[in-house]
Amino acid sequence: MPFTPFHMGPGLAAKAIAGRHFSLMVFGFSQAGMDIEPLVRMIRGDAVLHGFTHTYLGATLIALASAVVGRSVCQYLLSYWPSDSRLPFFNWLRGTGLISWPVAIMSAFIGAYSHVFLDSLMHADMQPFAPLSEANGLLYMIPIESLHLLCVLAGVLGALLMLAVFFVRRNARIYR
Ligand SMILES: [Zn+2]
Repeated sequence: MPFTPFHMGPGLAAKAIAGRHFSLMVFGFSQAGMDIEPLVRMIRGDAVLHGFTHTYLGATLIALASAVVGRSVCQYLLSYWPSDSRLPFFNWLRGTGLISWPVAIMSAFIGAYSHVFLDSLMHADMQPFAPLSEANGLLYMIPIESLHLLCVLAGVLGALLMLAVFFVRRNARIYR
């Protein structure tokens, strides 16, 4: 964490920029996968919450698992999201309903690595480069409130940008 949903802010921004080449669902799947360990450790009352999964090495394994399992799960969920001509924006967002392997892999890796990066700015128990180094040079580089604000801002700007791209593309199609 930062509280898992905050990670979706940068995800929305990535979706707005990369469009069909990025799966927000697989990205979200990797975020949930990343925070299983801290959640379990929190329930157990461990002193260290962010262990192996919050290193770049651990995140690599989470990303691979998210790409493989997440792609199947997200594709299954997409099959329950029918295209509806009355909802053009959601149709556009849904895309073809298929998530290609390159898109699944890229989205999962962006998800897991950005998660470690953002978390390493705020969690003193993290060693992102373990087992190579115990150091975390990014810790407290920016205030935690600003980090959360930036995540929310990225989400809002991402959502606005997505709407803007949708309307520009649609108008281009109408007036062609
Ligand atoms: Zn986390």
